[in-house]
Amino acid sequence: MENMYQRSLAGEINKEDALMLVNSNPFHLFDLANKLRAEIVGDEVTFVVNRNIHITDRCTINCAFCSFKNKAKYEMSIDEILQSVGEAKELGATEICLFGGVMPYMTVDYYCDIIRAIKTNYDIELHTLSPVEIYHAAKASEMTTKEVLIELKKSGLDTLTGASAEILVDSVRAEICPNKVTTSQWVDIIKETHEVGIPSTSTMMYGTVETWEDRIEHLLILRDIQRETGGFTEFVPMTFLSENNEAGQDTMGASGMEDLQLHALARVILGRDIPNIQAAWIKMGTRMAQMALCCGANDLGGTMMEDRISLAAGASHGDHLPKNQMISVVEAIGRIPVERTTTYKHV
Ligand code: SF4
Repeated sequence: MENMYQRSLAGEINKEDALMLVNSNPFHLFDLANKLRAEIVGDEVTFVVNRNIHITDRCTINCAFCSFKNKAKYEMSIDEILQSVGEAKELGATEICLFGGVMPYMTVDYYCDIIRAIKTNYDIELHTLSPVEIYHAAKASEMTTKEVLIELKKSGLDTLTGASAEILVDSVRAEICPNKVTTSQWVDIIKETHEVGIPSTSTMMYGTVETWEDRIEHLLILRDIQRETGGFTEFVPMTFLSENNEAGQDTMGASGMEDLQLHALARVILGRDIPNIQAAWIKMGTRMAQMALCCGANDLGGTMMEDRISLAAGASHGDHLPKNQMISVVEAIGRIPVERTTTYKHV
């Protein structure tokens, strides 16, 4: 493991190393990841005071793992979105994340109108959209994806989400999200995003049909992109939640041990390239998130305030963890809580 520690810090972990680590004693992997976390980012655990706003559940993409799409068939007006942002501001939020489905009428103007309305009324970071929305907005607007990104940035978009990555292996995507962008489309759009000066998160939704080889392939793709663009702010592993969706008929998702292995392996592979690894309490619960923070992670994510997507899929840990509770979760494992912005500046 000493050898793996040095290789990780030098950015040299390859597919064979990663497979060997997955097949070794998990507790050795956890220890390695925890030591790397201490060396790379120290003992601080960051979190962001944010609000998710789910602007619509209407969607034509039909991913097999999604429990959110087309249930209530609602769509928020701009006034309703602004009211939600205002409530979040009053609770001290520094970040708003807008989520929604993909519909043919969602042109670049549709998104720019919402973004401009928020940014002219509130001083708040706007973290929204992902490669799949950019791809379809470009089609609907008869523009290139790069032109769409430039217009969104001009309207006030601060950062893009790295959502719609799921697993960046086309044979997996063919099973769980055949109508979404392909791996190469996702990669091209995220690189363009960084190129036009919009940072993004990176994500993985794991626990359906993929293998450890697929997960490793995904992490290596993210590392390659980061080495080229430097545009990722963090890596967010999201464990699959299996209620009320098609994919959940065949699997209950990853085990708790796999959740921890995934966070630890991400730390080892991503090393100094993507130093921030999130433990998403909304998916795993706060106790499991505390464990992940001891296995390589260094960020507890956001206060959320609401998360209709996770609740629809069976998350049972609530959808709001106020700032004082975030602090308690971190202090309970002997680490130092630090509030951050979307781009990891201290508040
Ligand atoms: S995950 Fe997103 S794109 Fe896929 S069906 Fe659900 S809302 Fe639509």
